[in-house]
Amino acid sequence: MGDAGGVAAPAPIKRLEEAVVNRIAAGEVIQRPASALKELLENSLDAGATSIGITIKDGGLKLIQIVDNGHGIRYEDLPLLCERHATSKLQVFEDLEVISTLGFRGEALASITFVAHLSVITMTEGQAHGYKATYKDGQMQAEARPCAAVKGTQITVENLFYNVAARRKAFKNPNEEYGRILDVVSRYAIHKIGISFSCKKHGDSRADVHTVGSSSRTDTIRAVYGPGVARELIAISASDDSPQGSTFQMDGLISSANYSSKRSSMVLFINDRLVECTALRKAIELVYATILPKASKPFIYMSIHLPPEHVDVNVHPTKREVSFLNQESLVDTIQQAVEAKLLESNNSRTFSTQTLLPGASIAIIPREESSPSPSPPVITPQKAPVNKKVRVDSLNPQGRLHAFMHKKRSVTDEPSQMENDLAKTRRTVRQRRNPKESADLTSVQELLAAIDRQTHSGMLEIIKQCIYIGMADDVLALAQCKTRLYVLNVVNLSKELIYQQVLRRFAHFNVMHLSTSAPLMELLMIALDEEERMGRWCESDGPKGQIAQLNVELLMCKAEMLKEYFSIEIDESGNLCTLPVVLDQYTPDMDRLPSFVLNLGNNVDWESEKECFETLAAAMADFYAMHPPFLPNPNENEHSQTYCVSKSKQAATDEGSEEQAGGSDIDMRAEAETAWAHREWSIQHVLFPAMKLFLKPPMHMANDGTAVQLACLENLYKIFERC
Ligand code: ADP
Ligand code: MG
Repeated sequence: MGDAGGVAAPAPIKRLEEAVVNRIAAGEVIQRPASALKELLENSLDAGATSIGITIKDGGLKLIQIVDNGHGIRYEDLPLLCERHATSKLQVFEDLEVISTLGFRGEALASITFVAHLSVITMTEGQAHGYKATYKDGQMQAEARPCAAVKGTQITVENLFYNVAARRKAFKNPNEEYGRILDVVSRYAIHKIGISFSCKKHGDSRADVHTVGSSSRTDTIRAVYGPGVARELIAISASDDSPQGSTFQMDGLISSANYSSKRSSMVLFINDRLVECTALRKAIELVYATILPKASKPFIYMSIHLPPEHVDVNVHPTKREVSFLNQESLVDTIQQAVEAKLLESNNSRTFSTQTLLPGASIAIIPREESSPSPSPPVITPQKAPVNKKVRVDSLNPQGRLHAFMHKKRSVTDEPSQMENDLAKTRRTVRQRRNPKESADLTSVQELLAAIDRQTHSGMLEIIKQCIYIGMADDVLALAQCKTRLYVLNVVNLSKELIYQQVLRRFAHFNVMHLSTSAPLMELLMIALDEEERMGRWCESDGPKGQIAQLNVELLMCKAEMLKEYFSIEIDESGNLCTLPVVLDQYTPDMDRLPSFVLNLGNNVDWESEKECFETLAAAMADFYAMHPPFLPNPNENEHSQTYCVSKSKQAATDEGSEEQAGGSDIDMRAEAETAWAHREWSIQHVLFPAMKLFLKPPMHMANDGTAVQLACLENLYKIFERC
């Protein structure tokens, strides 16, 4: 290594020691105990076993033992058994195209011997005794010894990752690892229903997964996943053999409208190989979320058969993801089949004609509003984007609305109030965990369903996987998604996210209190002054005072609904007291509060329920979105000069108060710095994590510049991977 600091001379290139190379390669195939188990299990299946027993100690780190009754291994093959690229399943490259066994790379056992101690006892048909051999670093340790055995193979893997301390340390929780192992066994158990599986912890007499190898698939699912799932399964199948489409046959079982779970599970086999196919999973989940929002976490089992030459199983060392021809068309066909099935099984159910739930009838939107004046407040609809507005006079104390904010709860809060809040928080958390309870009005459900319907799956993928890197300018963030680099418009994204979260948290918001309640009248006057400065108000629109007054009255009329559904509380004297928490740990920019209040008066459709909620959510989205702060960014050179220039300007025009002017300039700079730093923190720590969890990007985001790909390292990455 070169010395730190100075320009280091290049280190000479050397060949890695073979053992090191092998250990690195082993890490690719054997990433964790469950991946070792999966390889061993697949070998047993390839050997034609009908009974497979597994014993695990310490989540597989101490011991993985698997016993099968397959065809066994011949004595003369034992020396080669654990050598890299030694396999009985593939001879020439062309075989790969029609491979029907699960293994073929001859890598699994070899890999295991580089990171663990492995021993084998095996016996083939018609022999009098079996043989035992132990292996290390790909080599058999001594001549195989004869021993007592039955037909089949027993493989014992001990002390996994004994020589890879970092990897070993990564598995802190053996139970979690055991869970993953059970997951693999369960999946195979319900696919291979003719085979009996058992998996238990070392020393336990009862198996945690146990199937008998003769029951129906539904019975096996009952035995493995429980009666709750098994009761609610619908059989499904789909196929295609059109010359331009995909050729496939799919048979499966999917959960019905009555099944609700915390997590969705998808057990997918393609040509009998346990795989993941993200595109297919997402497509099916989307159908559930749209048709059965209350059963949106389904259980799916699907087995798909494709012509082997259409599948490339060799895209990944663990063979977990597969790629195949005409994937899109296959996904489409299956998605349609699921949709048809769910609609069919759902026709007679009540929730498709869901009406207002109890409580909603205390109805909120009085239709024939007795407006104090016949004409609505006249202001030209302000469609100009708020982020185009500038703070004209930051020294105007009225413009400083941070003063109204009550950021932290003071320690002297009354205990009863705290208890109250605690109970409320718990309730909210429960409701969020259990979306069933928070499903309220049909109109909100419809708006949520529309979000699901309009989700762009490609964008969704990007958002789910992206990692924040930094801000490229005032509105664009740099983010990495796998091997691609994107610029993402944080204003658009946060606006959409807020809109969606307002609807999702509908009627279940946590509340933030303004430290001093803010008079609506004052807020509206600030906003109207701003409108005037922007040339969007003129004398003929009517006196500003009157417009503000009308708006105050309108909002006070709606106070009950605003409070109950949106946690926007207005007291009898027309003061705004609370705002909802839409994203945890995030407070909107209070400089935008006046225009938000004006927006509520002007741009919300108060007439019909659904439009009302939609436009209200949009107004909140506009307010809460992560716009650039009004104060110029002090970290940009030109702006830092702005602060100095304004200082000298002021000093020149107002000699007497030089010191004062300088002081407020420093204040302003500090305020700007805080505002920008705070926003960037929110983007990184609130927006990105929340987007990954909740945002369903709408179609238009795919081509309106919200996400633009800058670079793709795919090819380079591939080259690295081969090295
Ligand atoms: P692959 O499965 O890709 O061929 P492995 O390293 O997993 O490579 O296994 C190497 C070889 O060991 C297999 O090709 C097979 O011949 C033999 N083998 C492994 N496990 C078993 C088993 N349980 N029963 C019979 N043969 C086995
Ligand atoms: Mg194998």
